Formats: sequence, structure tokens, C-alpha cells
Amino acid sequence: MSRNCFVPHCHEGNKSQIKKNKLLGIKRKTMFKAPKDALLLEIWAKAIQRTDKKLRPGIDSVCEKHFDETCVHRYFETKMADGSIHLIERGRLSLKKNAVPSRFPDLPQSLTMIEPINKTKLNNISSTIDNVSETYNNLKDTLINMKLPAEWFFCCAHNSLVLGYLDSNHELVKKIIISSNDLNVKVSIKNKQIIIPQKPVTCVDDIQKILKTVDDVKMCTES
Ligand SMILES: [Zn+2]
Repeated sequence: MSRNCFVPHCHEGNKSQIKKNKLLGIKRKTMFKAPKDALLLEIWAKAIQRTDKKLRPGIDSVCEKHFDETCVHRYFETKMADGSIHLIERGRLSLKKNAVPSRFPDLPQSLTMIEPINKTKLNNISSTIDNVSETYNNLKDTLINMKLPAEWFFCCAHNSLVLGYLDSNHELVKKIIISSNDLNVKVSIKNKQIIIPQKPVTCVDDIQKILKTVDDVKMCTES
């Protein structure tokens, strides 16, 4: 049985591609199941940007081509008596914690473009501050199209708007969570909650201010 890679325009995992690879002597690609963690699943779905199908946790798979080398364990490492490290290539790769697909070599350019922010949507946000769910939905629509600072992503998970920052190891180290119930904001850095003086957000400017503050926080390697 074979299962195709979930990434559009990628043919890994389908029978004819496996046959082709075999004939060409190309090693079979490792397929990774979509994560069961709801937040990480949203991040994968957001990275893949597939609109016709929903990414199903534990069912759909993404092939190794879409993961950066820093996201996969390619070797078994054995420390030798003299202190040197002996590497043995794994038959099947394994994914590091919080790994997110980031390489889409077969995707046409048009699919990876980010839409500009709609100005009228921005205006609508400030005029609906009394209505929490309407404001929430407007903020969500705006954030989907907003260009974020480098390494930041946006997703909706657990009925919240989540802005997250991935470090160079693709670890989620900064989080801004906006609750759909009351539009209150929670900020955490390296899983520690940070208290910031902030009323519920009412417009995208509020979010941008928080984002700037949190983005400017320098990460210390020893904490
Ligand atoms: Zn693929």
C-alpha cells in the first residue's frame, strides 16, 4: 500500500513514482505522518497551504523532501571510546520535535505568494469593537493575509488566534495567543508566561504592537 505526499504537486509515495525511483536507483523517500498535536498540525497545514483538503493528523503524510536538514535525524550517532562520533545512516529518517515542512521545490510560484492586506478590512475592524466574535473573525481574516516578521507564523488553534516564532531549530519559542472568548492576550516565551500590560485587543494595531515587543525580545541561550 502506498500513500501520496500531501504536498500539492509532489508525487512521492505514489506507485508510479516509487517504481521510477526504483529503476533509477533512488532511495525511497521517508513519509512522515501529520502530527496529532493540534497546534503543530495547524502550523503544518499553514506551511503547506493546501486549500482543497484538510490535513488529517496521523493519516496524511508529508515526504522528507519538504523538511530542512536541521529538522531530521539522518544518522544514528555512537560516541566512541576516543570521544569521536561514529555516524551510521538510518534506513528511515525520523523527525525532530516540532519539525515543520518548509521546502516546496515543486510548487508553482503563484501558490506561495502572500496576498496583500485588504485596507477596507482594516477599517472594519476598528468599527466593530463592541462585538467580540465579529472582531475576532475580522482579526483572523486580517492576520491570515498579514506579512509577519521573519520566522513568525500565524494559525488558528483551540479557538484562539496564535502567532508563533520558530527559532533556527524550528522550535516554537515565542507564542502570542488571542482568546476567542474575550480577545485577551497571553504571551509566552520558552513556555514561560510573560505578563504584559495589555487590554483585550480590538484592532490589528494592538496585535502589531505586541508582536513588535515580543519579536524584539532577545533570546538568551542559557535560561
Ligand atoms: Zn512530498
